[in-house]
Amino acid sequence: MNKVYLGLGSNIGDTKENINKAIELLKENLNISITNKSSFYETEPVGYTKQDWFLNIVIEIETTLKPYKLLEYCQYIESELKRKRIIRWGPRSIDVDILLYEGFKSNDKDLIVPHPRMCERAFVMVPLYEINKTIEINGKNIKEIIDNLDGEEIRVKKDG
Ligand code: ADP
Ligand code: MG
Repeated sequence: MNKVYLGLGSNIGDTKENINKAIELLKENLNISITNKSSFYETEPVGYTKQDWFLNIVIEIETTLKPYKLLEYCQYIESELKRKRIIRWGPRSIDVDILLYEGFKSNDKDLIVPHPRMCERAFVMVPLYEINKTIEINGKNIKEIIDNLDGEEIRVKKDG
């Protein structure tokens, strides 16, 4: 079993529904078990503000899937939700990222682990910190990384 942290995000349509659907698809995979989940976090978009707030969650899983097989499954989830979007419910979007994969580091552009932009993103680091306060990313303690982030507006979604 390998412990992995996934970052899920959505900012089109019913964002919470999108993320919940993605979680359902993770649960459907017999090689994945969800061991922890952060709260939902909302982030205000910067720049072009006529778009929906971003909704993000970080999920801890245990999996027997090797890194590229897991990436494939993450991309399957993305395409599955996009496919349904076209057919049924209007605009939908989901992003599923592998943030950290136990004992695995990679610089291949198709799979960079730790995820290359995670340390700059409050909407990743804050939920990750909620479920693991002692984790280190590239040798740096998570609390230290968060304390040095610029003040990006992020808040726990109140109704769940
Ligand atoms: P981002 O998640 O940074 O907003 P995208 O989701 O648009 O960007 O990027 C998708 C591409 O990133 C895919 O081609 C995928 O192979 C690649 N990629 C590289 N590293 C990772 C990772 N750790 N998790 C998910 N996708 C990754
Ligand atoms: Mg992505």
